[in-house]
Amino acid sequence: MTDPRPAEPLPAISEVATDALVAWFAARGEPAYRARQVVAGVSAGRASSFDELTDLPLRLRAALGAAYRFSTIGDSHVIGTDQSLTEKAVHELADGQRIESVFMRYPGHGASAPRTTICISSQAGCAVGCPFCATGQGGFGRHLSAAEIVDQVLWWRRARADRLDPEHHLNVVFMGMGEPLHNADPVFESVRLLNDPGRVGIGARHLTVSTSGVVPAMDRMADELPQVNLAISLHAAHDELRDELVPINRKWPIEAVLGAGQRFAARTRRRVSLEYVMIDGINDAPLEAERLADLAHGWLCHVNLIPLNPTPAAPWRGTPREGIERFADILRRGGVATTVRDTRGRSIEAACGQLHAQLTKRALGTRAASPELVMVEG
Ligand code: SAH
Ligand code: SF4
Repeated sequence: MTDPRPAEPLPAISEVATDALVAWFAARGEPAYRARQVVAGVSAGRASSFDELTDLPLRLRAALGAAYRFSTIGDSHVIGTDQSLTEKAVHELADGQRIESVFMRYPGHGASAPRTTICISSQAGCAVGCPFCATGQGGFGRHLSAAEIVDQVLWWRRARADRLDPEHHLNVVFMGMGEPLHNADPVFESVRLLNDPGRVGIGARHLTVSTSGVVPAMDRMADELPQVNLAISLHAAHDELRDELVPINRKWPIEAVLGAGQRFAARTRRRVSLEYVMIDGINDAPLEAERLADLAHGWLCHVNLIPLNPTPAAPWRGTPREGIERFADILRRGGVATTVRDTRGRSIEAACGQLHAQLTKRALGTRAASPELVMVEG
């Protein structure tokens, strides 16, 4: 009789502890340096299977392939725009869940070096349910494992190896699908794996975790990951409005969230970002700017104003540019460092809050037919 249960997938190599891999090699009479070789080879983002780790003997490559999964990311489809400066990938996971990640290039000019930001997902869907966010509108799927998080970065490294030389500044932001601090253990582990110089080796200062305000996990982050950047999605400066826009506010209201932000800043001496999505006629009144100035004044933070990207399920639109500038002026006059952000990739739904991974392969094909878009099988 056949077993009706699907086979458990093999452990994912990108989250296997180096010690465990050392033991695995030792059991085969192999020296410890083999484990470090494998970890480095997998993290470098050049090979796409164990077979391609050519500094290992063939029999070990085969044995690794029988024991571990090289990547947790299955079929992936890329859509690009802005002359391919912004690209979004929809990735299929082993159980059929779909997640999205975004690759944004910023060409250098003058003294500034070119840099790339990869925006990754921490969950399939999100339980917070912010009404302006496409991920929130789609509900919660499941948590991602540390390997599923890290593998999004490795996937882009492989897919765009030609554009990522070793000198290139690479930033990773947890601003894709999901609330990272609802999935804190795997997210923290993925941060360590991304940061580990023997693995992906991205400097902690180039890693940013964005949260809607899960207060206990923010405090844990200050303890456990004090070098990593914290962004708080505020979006309103009084509780009645924030209860609607960021429903987790009913559990941890503004005072609690900003209290955790202040503890993080005091403890880590790192400037906290307050993200503020500008929604026309909803949260962009001068009075709201004054309230925000009061909340943000006098501690180590800065405000990022981001125009809303419209989503199908909400009637709202982004505040026009002049309105955003007026809002920014009030903040600056109140002594608050403020940046007006651009949005990238609107037309491919790769901008913040437009990640929802509902697209079927057929739909992706149709979208790719538009002259502005290209689709590449990954
Ligand atoms: N859940 C986390 C991280 C993922 S969302 C958080 O909320 O912080 C990443 C950022 O995208 C958040 O600041 C979020 O508020 C913002 N965002 C969501 N929907 C958006 C939209 N439609 N337009 C612009 N930004 C949006
Ligand atoms: Fe979740 Fe962040 Fe979207 Fe809110 S904005 S629903 S917390 S992903």
